[in-house]
Amino acid sequence: MVTILIVEDEPDLLSTLEYNLQRAGFHTQACLTGEEGLNWIADHGPPGLVLLDIMLPGISGIEVCYRLRAQEQTRATPVIFLSARAEEIDRVIGFELGADDYVVKPFNIRELILRIRAVLRRNGEETVTSIKTEESIGPLRLNRKRHQVWLNEVEVVLTPVEFRLLSLLLARKGVVQSREVLLTDVWHVNSLIQLRTVDAHIKRLREKLGAAGDMLETIRGVGYRIQAAC
Ligand code: CA
Repeated sequence: MVTILIVEDEPDLLSTLEYNLQRAGFHTQACLTGEEGLNWIADHGPPGLVLLDIMLPGISGIEVCYRLRAQEQTRATPVIFLSARAEEIDRVIGFELGADDYVVKPFNIRELILRIRAVLRRNGEETVTSIKTEESIGPLRLNRKRHQVWLNEVEVVLTPVEFRLLSLLLARKGVVQSREVLLTDVWHVNSLIQLRTVDAHIKRLREKLGAAGDMLETIRGVGYRIQAAC
């Protein structure tokens, strides 16, 4: 059974969430503050997913997410933000920190459950697709074992970095990857001064893919993504 850690300081909302998520078949753990949530994870290990309120007493949900992403153990733990504020800035910060989704209060509980299931499914699939030898999307075909890419069955010659970049975006298709995440996972560096490197490589990759290059979407101020279905 998947455990969902809920960090929410409004007691009424917290019990509504617990009740409904349990009814939907999840195991829940409720925490009223970010500190409490982080302590629970330190004691019990990462949950299946974290529902994280942004406005919390003490450390904010943003800070909690930041700390989760900074630790090896919780780097990949799915996070869905709950927020009373709908400003774009929150959305951007949320995705830059690697949040998997973002729900604005007041929300429909059934919709929230659908989103939770979608995030869990996506995360499960990601593990599977990352070991898939071959993947196709639209006119594009990529073979991880042979390190080759074809566009309408004509081979496109990519540099090793371009290949890794495309392979990773395909493995995580539908999910926005921030430039920070791409730098870490493609280039294996943490230095943020090289963010423009990502842009330059995306640009070159787009040029090489011609019309199919449009599949590489720019999410302004956040990062890049390949649509789940083209
Ligand atoms: Ca709150």
